[in-house]
Formats: sequence, structure tokens, C-alpha cells
Amino acid sequence: MAAMILDGKVVAAAVKAEVAAEVARLDQAPGLATVLVGDDPASHAYVRGKRRDAAEVGIRSIHHEVAADATEAELFDLIAELNADDSVDGILVQLPLPSHLDGEATVERIDPAKDVDGLHPFNLGQLVLDRPGLRPCTPSGVIRILDHYGIPTAGKSALVIGRSFLVGRPLALMLSAKGADATVSVAHSRTSDLASVSAEVDIVVAAVGVPRLVTKDFVKPGATVIDVGINRVGERLVGDVAFEEVLEVAGAVTPVPGGVGPMTRAMLLVNTVTAAKARSVLYSQLE
Ligand code: NAP
Repeated sequence: MAAMILDGKVVAAAVKAEVAAEVARLDQAPGLATVLVGDDPASHAYVRGKRRDAAEVGIRSIHHEVAADATEAELFDLIAELNADDSVDGILVQLPLPSHLDGEATVERIDPAKDVDGLHPFNLGQLVLDRPGLRPCTPSGVIRILDHYGIPTAGKSALVIGRSFLVGRPLALMLSAKGADATVSVAHSRTSDLASVSAEVDIVVAAVGVPRLVTKDFVKPGATVIDVGINRVGERLVGDVAFEEVLEVAGAVTPVPGGVGPMTRAMLLVNTVTAAKARSVLYSQLE
């Protein structure tokens, strides 16, 4: 029997409706600042999409474009301004940055309370400690899609293929945290016999960037397969999973496009509202 398709567009729409309702209950619309450095067309398209999403749910968007040859000092000054600006609840610096700028050092300049990408070392540390904090958007989106379709993780075995700080590592922590309770392995480019390791587990997440790496040999019959990969092959966007053949073996699978991608965008909105609410609690305590 063909696998169930986990539709990220449907789940993202549900998340956005929840966010819009939450925004409507707040005294002030949350503000999301986007910082776009340089002329990369893909980055421009991503930021346009994020601003459009924000507008749809009633989040104010504050947009800054920075020249491709801006200095680190200029970029850091802008972030300092946004950190100090009370009308800004969340700051998103679109990555990657032009090669003369250091993405990690830049993210570290963002006030962790406004770090809606969840990539500041403070927030990643909170995740390691299983304490509240802003979580990275893509891993949160994966957890949310599993939740939405009622796919159990507790007591299940999971393999996360990829160990980036953006996706693989935080997702492995989130799947193994109390509440999710999966037993998690992490694979990477040095993993031996990846197909056999993968074919043992109940949930496989591919966050690699290699088109069609995960074939049906990687999948235990009935397993859930989550495809985080976004790869451009000619004119097409494809994932890390050989979707058609995996569909025949898996129990459930996310498509690309229309799977994890829309969830990543939706979780940015969730983080912006979370940041705004946390800041308003802080202010009410100071008054
Ligand atoms: P990344 O930083 O390049 O990390 C890729 C990871 O995959 C690394 O840990 C690497 O191992 C591992 N890897 C590479 N080749 C492998 C192979 N043949 N077998 C097993 N592991 C292998 O990438 P990323 O930022 O995590 O992104 C991964 C993919 O997700 C990309 O396609 C990206 O475009 C996509 N993405 C999608 C979303 C979304 O919203 N859907 C969000 C973010 C990223 P080593 O550590 O050993 O090098």
C-alpha cells in the first residue's frame, strides 16, 4: 500500500491560523525585522516569502537591505539598533551571508530574546539543557508535522541523517528530549553502511543536501520518512529522498516541495509570537 503523504502545506496553514488568532489577542502586533545582505536572488526570494507570511498573520515586518560589500561593523551596528528597538520582537538575518562576513558571529550579535531563527548559542544551549527557549525553525517544523499526523515518537527508533547546527543536531536533540522520547542516532558523511543503519529505524529524517540519497533500500516497511533536503536539479526542486520509490515502502513520507519547507516558514511566525509574548511578560514585570 502506498504511504500516507504528510502535507506540509496543510499543516503550515493550520499553524498560521493559530498564529493569526494569537496575534489578534495581543495588545500590539509583534514586529519581525528581516535583514538581507547582498544580492543573492534565492535569499531575496526567501525573505520576500517570510515577509508575506508575516503580513498574512498580522505580524508587522521591518525590512533592512544591506549592501553586499557592507563591513562587519556596519552589519553589527544595524543588529545593535534592532536589539535596542522596542518595536522589534524578532530579528532574522538571512543566511548565508556574503563570504567576507561570518554568519555565526553575526547570529551571536542578536539578542537571544529576539533570535527567532533559534540559532544563537544561548538558545541552542537551552535546547541542550531541555529548558525553554526559541527553537530552530526547521527542526520544530519536523516535530510539528509528526505531531499533526499523530505519528508517535515515544519509544520509537529514529535516524537523523545530517549533523548541521541548523537542522540535524537540534532535531536529534528535540526528538530525544523528554516528551518526544525517541531513541535517536545521527548519521553523517562518514557513517558506514548508511542504508543498513537507516533500514532498521522507525523514523528516518534526511537533512543532507544530496538529491535522492534515501532510496527504498534505506526504508523499513511502514517507516516514516521526513525529507528536509532542498536541491535544485535543472529546473526542478527535489529532496534527499527518492520520493516515488520510497512511497511504495514507507508508511508515511513528506514531499518536496510542500513538506518541511512550508513548516520552516510557519515556525518562524510561531517563534516571533513566542518572542513577543515573552518580552511583554518581561515588561509587565518591570512596570
Ligand atoms: P549542511 O550544513 O551541508 O549539512 C549536511 C549534512 O549532511 C552534514 O552533516 C554532512 O555530513 C551530511 N552529509 C553530506 N553528504 C552525506 C552523505 N552522502 N551521507 C550521509 N550524510 C551526508 O546542510 P544543512 O544546512 O543541514 O541542510 C541540509 C539540506 O536541508 C539541504 O538540502 C538544505 O537545502 C535543506 N534545508 C531545508 C530546509 C527546509 O526548510 N526544508 C531548511 C534548512 C535546510 P558531515 O557533517 O560529515 O559533512
